[in-house]
Amino acid sequence: MKPLVAIVGRPNVGKSTLFNRLARRRIALVEDIPGVTRDRHYWDVECEGRFITIIDTGGFVPGEKDSLLQQVREQAQLAVEECDAIVFVTDARAGLTAADQEVATYLRQSGKPVVVAANKLDSESQLVQAHASEFFRLGLGEVFPISAEHGLGVGTMMEAVVGKLPPMDDEELAAKAFAETALDEPATEADEAAFGYVPEGEEGEDGEGDEDGEGEEGAAAAATPIGAKEDEDEEEERPIRIAIIGRPNVGKSTLVNALLKEKRVVASEVPGTTRDPIDSELKYKDRQVILTDTAGIRRKKTIAHRLEKFSVVAALKSMERSDVAVLLMDATEPAVDQDAKLAGLAEEKGRALVIVVNKWDLISTDQRKQEIFREELKYALKFVHYAPIVFTSALTGSKVEKVLELAVELADQFRYRSPTPQLNRLLKHIEESHPAPIVGRGPLRVYYMAQVGTAPPTFAITCNRPEGVPDMYRRYITNQLRKTFDLRVPIRLLFRERP
Ligand code: GDP
Ligand code: GDP
Repeated sequence: MKPLVAIVGRPNVGKSTLFNRLARRRIALVEDIPGVTRDRHYWDVECEGRFITIIDTGGFVPGEKDSLLQQVREQAQLAVEECDAIVFVTDARAGLTAADQEVATYLRQSGKPVVVAANKLDSESQLVQAHASEFFRLGLGEVFPISAEHGLGVGTMMEAVVGKLPPMDDEELAAKAFAETALDEPATEADEAAFGYVPEGEEGEDGEGDEDGEGEEGAAAAATPIGAKEDEDEEEERPIRIAIIGRPNVGKSTLVNALLKEKRVVASEVPGTTRDPIDSELKYKDRQVILTDTAGIRRKKTIAHRLEKFSVVAALKSMERSDVAVLLMDATEPAVDQDAKLAGLAEEKGRALVIVVNKWDLISTDQRKQEIFREELKYALKFVHYAPIVFTSALTGSKVEKVLELAVELADQFRYRSPTPQLNRLLKHIEESHPAPIVGRGPLRVYYMAQVGTAPPTFAITCNRPEGVPDMYRRYITNQLRKTFDLRVPIRLLFRERP
């Protein structure tokens, strides 16, 4: 799970300016999704060699109705509940204010690592030291003078932040290795060997019987960077992690309770996993399943429940730890914007997704009504068109088990590895049935395809002009992959150059 770093502070101290500056280091692993990217308050960035998620908490707290102090307090609460480290931004030109002190008290009590930034120190010559030293009185330790606008001191401050983070876990290491090898550099000879590339024309005789041969082994080896270190046996035993996400009141806890009622595993140990005590375990068809908690589920009284926008942060957090996201919506209250945002988040995070329309008992038993609803929803959520939709009543238990069944099925697809020879046969078929587009000055030539990662399934096509591949062609191939392997999970497709 990537560490979360929150940027906190009263309005106008320069939080968004700092956030935007840090966001320049963002990791462009996936394409931006319209509607999710606009008006974003979190990014995955690389900082001092770490992959972290930064959050501008100011952006998550709507302020119109609340008083300044209340707003600031809520932001701080969010940071404390959800984050691994906090950057507390203050305005050194304005000096220390009551709101700053309020937040500081709260942060101090939380015990979370905090770094204080004294912002707007644009030049050495100002009466800076004097002002900055005021912030020592907050009792939060060292104060870092920065100018968010000009980038001064930001690097040093972030070094301190990263120094306070928990050590890198396997998943972060894997993500890092993947980003470094898979995207920036063209395929090397070693990649080629690992892909099990069979030069054109030689596929003939032993190509067919290669399913269990070197080709597949090679693909598996190439796939390891994305945290797929386990072999087949471990894969079977690995628990499936499901995040139940959704706006407040859509029925998340009711669903979780309905699922747990029959299937709960009593205090059993899952081998090889560190368990978060707030996660719930259950068994489904001999598979170990863990429902990862989202802030809305247990901590009902907290702020996370009251503020709708917080469900985004909660979802973000629990999705980091999961294979599958189950997105609940309320059939009686379709709030497409917020629901779409959460669905977009799942796509962007590359998590498998089950869409659940809950409280269907309040709507209708009419089958046609369901079909109309489904069509409209599919249209509104075009960017996750592959995700299955279920209509449930968590209250009566109707179709609740179906949710689990689908989630487990998708979890397997999520970690699926396709045999290289089959991929290359598919590529050949695509070439024959669909003329290659013109890219730049000539036709696109595709040489071979391999799966370079799982979770989500990630494919790489080696070609002559990777920069200019038209979106349409990319979508076409993605859809062919979906059809061929029956994948109802997000797919990543990379184009890269032959070395
Ligand atoms: P937020 O409300 O905390 O997100 O604050 P903003 O990032 O919107 O910044 C508030 C104002 O402070 C804007 O007018 C910024 O241009 C200004 N500001 C932010 N950082 C600096 C800085 O380092 N130096 C100066 N002089 N102004 C800054
Ligand atoms: P959460 O905030 O998403 O965890 O939502 P809850 O599980 O607390 O549910 C909110 C309210 O909706 C509660 O009063 C539930 O009893 C009710 N509710 C949940 N699922 C259903 C359902 O399928 N049908 C109906 N009629 N009510 C439901």
